[in-house]
Amino acid sequence: MPITDPELLKIVEARVLNKMVCRRCGALNPMGARKCRRCGSKDLRPKRKKLGR
Ligand SMILES: [Zn+2]
Repeated sequence: MPITDPELLKIVEARVLNKMVCRRCGALNPMGARKCRRCGSKDLRPKRKKLGR
């Protein structure tokens, strides 16, 4: 399902990029996660990449 609304696209991009990446196993976790859902590690870093560069 392609997204054509530019405003909606911005929101979707933010949602996709606002993830937490586990430093131990590299699993993606939802934003706001306190620990990794795969290995249980609390060593998570936010994944925030700038788009358009
Ligand atoms: Zn992990």
